[in-house]
Amino acid sequence: MVVTTNGSNLVVKNSRTTIANETIMRDRDNGLPQQRQSKTVEVQDKVKIRGYTFAQFVDMVQSFHGYAAPGVLVGGFMVDLAYQYIPQEGLYDIVCETRKCLPDAIQLLTPCTVGNGWLRIIDISRFAFTIYDKQQGNGIRVSINYSKLDNWPLIKSWMYGNSRDKNIDGPTLGKQIEDAGSSICDVYPTKVEIPTNVVKTNDHNICPYCGEPHAFVDGKTCIGDQLPYKIVGPRMNGSLSSKVNENVDTKLQTAQT
Ligand SMILES: [Zn+2]
Repeated sequence: MVVTTNGSNLVVKNSRTTIANETIMRDRDNGLPQQRQSKTVEVQDKVKIRGYTFAQFVDMVQSFHGYAAPGVLVGGFMVDLAYQYIPQEGLYDIVCETRKCLPDAIQLLTPCTVGNGWLRIIDISRFAFTIYDKQQGNGIRVSINYSKLDNWPLIKSWMYGNSRDKNIDGPTLGKQIEDAGSSICDVYPTKVEIPTNVVKTNDHNICPYCGEPHAFVDGKTCIGDQLPYKIVGPRMNGSLSSKVNENVDTKLQTAQT
């Protein structure tokens, strides 16, 4: 956060107001050159998440996750807490124990993503993750301490309410998340088994049924029949003409009836 004093005016800038306030400052400078003795003071924000202010992190979550989901915001504090326990220069993998929200905080704030394989999700619906050294397997598990949520009833209700209260006030919940920070978390040391006999291969089999290559380790035939969709029309070549779309719509209707 940057606090700028300009005469008797106090301008507080955060990620949401920076542009607007800089414009105001410039206008004031142009109109009132005698007030150019304005002074800018860097002030340490109380709440930081991996170097970002809470407001900045809210913006990041909005653009990445689609909206400022409370779970991703809580997850930000959890990731920040984990990094307080591990050497900054290490190379880490992460196992996340839920597919909800927390993986997005991890992907925003660490180098570990689903795509690069450094983040694995084993969904047992616990809001927790373990970050561990790739080679040695020494790690830190961060989880939510359920009993500590008694001090934060909205967070408790939102995370673990039996039938989620639809009337939870978003801004008040956000304030509780910001104020609670990582105080609702537990940290434990972990030791992860690093498999030593994994043969890395790029070999592929061509499936005799669908004709598509798939990883050798998955067997001779692919497991495409486990997918929740099936191909319902002929191969679509060329542009997406309405005729092709009509064809697919018709096939879909046929498949559903
Ligand atoms: Zn196949």
